[in-house]
Amino acid sequence: MTTASHKIFSFHGGLYLDEHKSISTSKRIESAPIPAMLVLPLSQHIGAAAKPCVAIGDSVLKGQLIAKADGRVSVPVHASSSGKVIAIEKRHVPHPSQLKAECIVIETDGRDTAIETEQKGLANYHSLSTDELRQRIHDAGIVGLGGAGFPSHVKLKPNGHHIETLILNAAECEPYISCDDMLMREQAPAIISGLRIMQQALHAKNCMIGIEDNKVEAYAALQEAIGDSDDIEIVRVPTRYPAGGERQLIYSLTGKQAPSQGRPLEIGIVCHNVGTAAAVHNAITKGEPLLSRIVTLTGSGIPQPRNMHVLLGTPIDDLLEHCRTHKENIGRTMIGGPMMGYILDSTTAPVTKTTNCVLVTHQRDIKKPETALPCIRCGECADVCPVNLLPQQLYWYARSQEFDHIQDYNLFDCIECGCCDVVCPSRIPLVQYFRFAKTTIWQQERNKEKSDKARNRHELRLERLEREKREKRERHNRKKAALKKEPDQKEDPKKAAILAAMKRVKEKQVATHVSPSNTENLNAEQQSKIDEADARRAEQHKDKNGS
Ligand code: SF4
Ligand code: SF4
Repeated sequence: MTTASHKIFSFHGGLYLDEHKSISTSKRIESAPIPAMLVLPLSQHIGAAAKPCVAIGDSVLKGQLIAKADGRVSVPVHASSSGKVIAIEKRHVPHPSQLKAECIVIETDGRDTAIETEQKGLANYHSLSTDELRQRIHDAGIVGLGGAGFPSHVKLKPNGHHIETLILNAAECEPYISCDDMLMREQAPAIISGLRIMQQALHAKNCMIGIEDNKVEAYAALQEAIGDSDDIEIVRVPTRYPAGGERQLIYSLTGKQAPSQGRPLEIGIVCHNVGTAAAVHNAITKGEPLLSRIVTLTGSGIPQPRNMHVLLGTPIDDLLEHCRTHKENIGRTMIGGPMMGYILDSTTAPVTKTTNCVLVTHQRDIKKPETALPCIRCGECADVCPVNLLPQQLYWYARSQEFDHIQDYNLFDCIECGCCDVVCPSRIPLVQYFRFAKTTIWQQERNKEKSDKARNRHELRLERLEREKREKRERHNRKKAALKKEPDQKEDPKKAAILAAMKRVKEKQVATHVSPSNTENLNAEQQSKIDEADARRAEQHKDKNGS
């Protein structure tokens, strides 16, 4: 069912921006060639990085599990083509921090041989329980393909909440990016199938698809794919940036506000991206893990902008070469759009599950950075903020590093949409300040957590040492007392027998040699002998003297 008359709730702020989308939508989606080397980061999602389960030198097949999920909020990684593992090491990855991260590097063999999986696709998945559906989605390594990268199986768990509405985000509001638009035009039935599977997993009563009103062809394709189903509504929302922000789209479609720093789940709504829905369809009905995605290659630095179906792990350099991009003309390469994207330091970084767009700007179009001027408190930033924040206040506290105060102004509700940056007459890079403040607060919290853990460990160690000392002392005292005590045969018969034997020997010795009665007898005998000798001497003396 499509509803032209569905009431649209208008979110606060936002901007009407030049779209620049048509430059990449004139061609159909093209398949990128298999690269000579695949670089697959272990962390392509929010949560714990996956753990490698292959070693250097192993041969791998397309679709083979090469890294296992580590914990509840984590997903596995699969080989996106066949070949040999040649390294497991830190490489450049697409990330705002520009830091290198652990990757599994596969030298491809060009044969693209797929593994025989035990998990077969199920055209009729209705017999699967919700847990089985979620497990298959997890095992396929699916994450939010809109750019956030949150593991989809976690988002499909209602955690006791009753889910009234499942929303598919088809707005794709950021300038230049058109991968979702092209996916909807060419694979609308797969998207609707994925939507149905997610609806079953969530027991959602109804479904809505929110699409910007500039995507006429995609809208028509979706309309055709849903046929006369009356529990799916396709709702067109005004093309106003950031209409595709999760909270903004939910508000536009339902008039409901997700709680500050809470999740839409708490108001009975779950929102997924159209690309994620297509990946869920492939995982459940075909048994295919997430091995590829559609990427928009666009910008003034690319001679023929287009959308490509790319194997995960393909180096961005390979894609630029395929699009005949002259490296010497590149002024700047970004991942994502101009509003929420980030600059890429090295184009050796690979395409990951969250890479929706590679935006290359020609050197001639790079403007010199302008010097920021002091804030004049004009309030224009607050007027355009779609979250109703006070960016000038946030800026003030971020600049003076008053991180306690900044949180009172809901810093963590900021979606970093960049609207405030665009309108600021003083050209203050506000979003940079907000990112800096968020990163510093997270770092401080991590440090505090670490020092709390270290202190607890230290206190537990001291307690253990004290306990061991006490126990040792008690053992020693018990031993001493036992030695003093008459041996108890019942307690230690061996010891008692030895002591009794020793006692008997001692008694015998005493009786034979040193008893007081013996001593007395010997003394009497000796005495009488002495007496007799004395008497004889006296007699002899008398005879000698004649008396
Ligand atoms: S738009 Fe810029 S100058 Fe105006 S209040 Fe906001 S930060 Fe200050
Ligand atoms: S970047 Fe943050 S503060 Fe600025 S307009 Fe967007 S949400 Fe508001």
